[in-house]
Amino acid sequence: MSHFSYELLHRDSQTGARRGVFSTPHGTVQTPGFMPVGTQGTVKGVTIDQVAATGAEMILGNTYHLALRPGHETVRRLGGLHGMTLWEGPILTDSGGFQIFSLQSIREINEQQATFRSHIDGSIVQLTPEHSIEIQESLGSDVAMVLDHVVALPAKRSEVVDAMERSIRWAGRCLNAATRDDQARFAIVQGGLDTELRIQCATELSSMNFEGFAVGGLSVGEAPSEMYRITQATCPHLPEHKPRYLMGVGRPIDLLESVARGIDLFDCVMPTRNGRNAMAFTDRGNVKIRNAKYRDETRPLEEHCPCLACRHSLGYLRHLFVAKEMLGPILLTIHNLTYYQRVMAEARQAIENNTFAQYVIDKKAGWGIIDEPDADVE
Ligand SMILES: [Zn+2]
Repeated sequence: MSHFSYELLHRDSQTGARRGVFSTPHGTVQTPGFMPVGTQGTVKGVTIDQVAATGAEMILGNTYHLALRPGHETVRRLGGLHGMTLWEGPILTDSGGFQIFSLQSIREINEQQATFRSHIDGSIVQLTPEHSIEIQESLGSDVAMVLDHVVALPAKRSEVVDAMERSIRWAGRCLNAATRDDQARFAIVQGGLDTELRIQCATELSSMNFEGFAVGGLSVGEAPSEMYRITQATCPHLPEHKPRYLMGVGRPIDLLESVARGIDLFDCVMPTRNGRNAMAFTDRGNVKIRNAKYRDETRPLEEHCPCLACRHSLGYLRHLFVAKEMLGPILLTIHNLTYYQRVMAEARQAIENNTFAQYVIDKKAGWGIIDEPDADVE
């Protein structure tokens, strides 16, 4: 019997939103759900208990970073990602494909492997699909992502086709290389901003034996409406009874628009990175904590937020940032992660109630977002 399953609990009556549960050897994840990013084996600045207290059920680790430092064999000797971090829930590791692309350290991609320069010591490193799986098996994550070929957009169609076809072949090599039955493999749909290619890629990958499917290569600078268009075209061509993960996305509005189009799982550095940089996500939109108008503000950042940051006054939070105290970034990271989890929990409830479309409208009103004509929830 498989260690993994996705149970589709309810489909929203007005949108493509799905309410489900993804089960792994380290527990279940309620979907739609958001995974905080722990690039280097830590969600930056916060303890694992603080991460759990935000409501997060699954976190992310990063193959590229952990393979370069401390090295996957060292991670394995230190008990794997679970033993090292003390996180008891599910962990997903990405394959390294996106980091190689985004750090612009790529030297060459050929059929066999990606060759890149380490951002740490400049050494030349080669990564094959097989090696990516071997690393992720050493890290001991619950979900391993296949190594994919990401291209910078815009690109010539022939380049997008080439990268997409290679990504499919590499996905097959990842499946063949896998040896752990307690680790799921998720495929990654590529194809740039071309819906025809996306559908072809989704269809081909769906015929292979993956436990879940990701939409990759998005949130790389394209307009949000383009991302929604691709997500909307891709999801209907993915298996209904397996989880769908939109990689590296995004703002709260992007999460909701993508949930409406059938996405179940998300990850993004935005809540943690913005938190460290004094920007808070709230129901009334983004708040810049350093703003002088908050100097004497006795109310919290958000009245109804249960997080530790919101037990303090907003004036105190501002003071911490102005004084460059490390507690400021820590508290704001906690708040932003709590906020993302709260939005996902509300979304799940709204889907169950068949009120998701109205929920998105209400959220947008609070965030001050005026609809673009092509970004409507269907
Ligand atoms: Zn809060």
